[in-house]
Amino acid sequence: MAKHRVAIIPGDGIGPEVAAATRLVLDAVDVGIAWLERAAGEGALHTHGALLPDETVDTIRECRVAIKGPITTPVGTGFRSVNVALRQGLDLFAAVRPARSLPGVPTRHDEVDLVVVRENTEDLYQGIEFERGSPEAAALRTELRNIGGFELREDAGVTLKPISVSGAHRIVRFAFEYARSHRRERVTVGHKANVMRFSDGIFLEAAVEEAGDFVDIAWNEIQIDHLSSRLARSPRDFDVLLLPNLYGDIISDLCAGLVGGLGLIPGANIGWEYAVFEAVHGSAPDIAGQQKANPVAMILSGAMMLRHLGEIEAAENVEWGVDETLRKGVVRTPDLGGGATTMAFAEAIAAEAVAWEHGPS
Ligand code: NAD
Repeated sequence: MAKHRVAIIPGDGIGPEVAAATRLVLDAVDVGIAWLERAAGEGALHTHGALLPDETVDTIRECRVAIKGPITTPVGTGFRSVNVALRQGLDLFAAVRPARSLPGVPTRHDEVDLVVVRENTEDLYQGIEFERGSPEAAALRTELRNIGGFELREDAGVTLKPISVSGAHRIVRFAFEYARSHRRERVTVGHKANVMRFSDGIFLEAAVEEAGDFVDIAWNEIQIDHLSSRLARSPRDFDVLLLPNLYGDIISDLCAGLVGGLGLIPGANIGWEYAVFEAVHGSAPDIAGQQKANPVAMILSGAMMLRHLGEIEAAENVEWGVDETLRKGVVRTPDLGGGATTMAFAEAIAAEAVAWEHGPS
């Protein structure tokens, strides 16, 4: 009998190709996963009449763990994003994106090994918006004038930035616990609390309060603009970065850039009950269906998932398989300068992963 039931959502564009590649590698390390394939995205809109069918969400709830490929956000459907809907609907409040230098992938800085922990449900991404010229924006303008003497321009659109004490405390605890369980030494909190005193200020206060419970983990705080320049110059100064939603979104892409780009780094969205692992790149419609996609990001997301499932050895095998294949540099997809197909790359990774299981030669 399968040990783990996992929902797999191939998604759109290159999603089915990188998802099949990921299944191949994860099946090769043989931890006993029963895959429950479900639809989401543009494809699901055609087959199920919904971008995020109920059946898909129900299966994630049942399995508690899912892995998904990229999803095309169709323009003009009035639906913000399947990814945002999943994060909010399943309360996946922590986004975790490790960014480490990979062998054979030349970049400006060597030996980068960072993890970005981003709050995933609040801040400017909570979706509280008032359209320019709408009656709601007008009402808000009047209200703001009445309660605080604030003057909004008549032609202003507004997006709110809520950060709650409870939301901040849970992500801070998550980040420190993550640091502890992954043998990380330092958490750096990025913010702009001197300007946004009542939102970023809460985030920073939560860090100050919670850090006292984690005396084994060093921590510091830094303003987000200063953090950006330090990251560009000396990324090795950092270990775990803890950030509110918007800064986290931007800085995690910056960190991906430091180690070779979005096609290579994994991601996870985690809550107390559910976890959804995903490659952070998009559906790449320009190369979809051509077996040109690099599957590394989704395969490494699969390794993160294995760790989450307690399959540490298998996760290490998969990471070894990726590193070794990249180090040898013989089998590579076109984005890395090679000519291999997505599946051939995955087969090479699987072979290395399995070989390591029996001890490196
Ligand atoms: P994209 O990441 O799909 O593509 C940007 C460039 O990177 C393209 O040239 C593409 O070919 C290349 N690329 C991306 N992933 C690659 C891989 N694994 N291997 C090789 N090359 C790769 O970004 P985009 O074009 O801005 O977005 C396309 C669609 O994806 C949009 O509908 C967007 O909404 C969606 N999207 C989804 C997610 C997600 O589901 N997590 C994330 C970002 C964008």
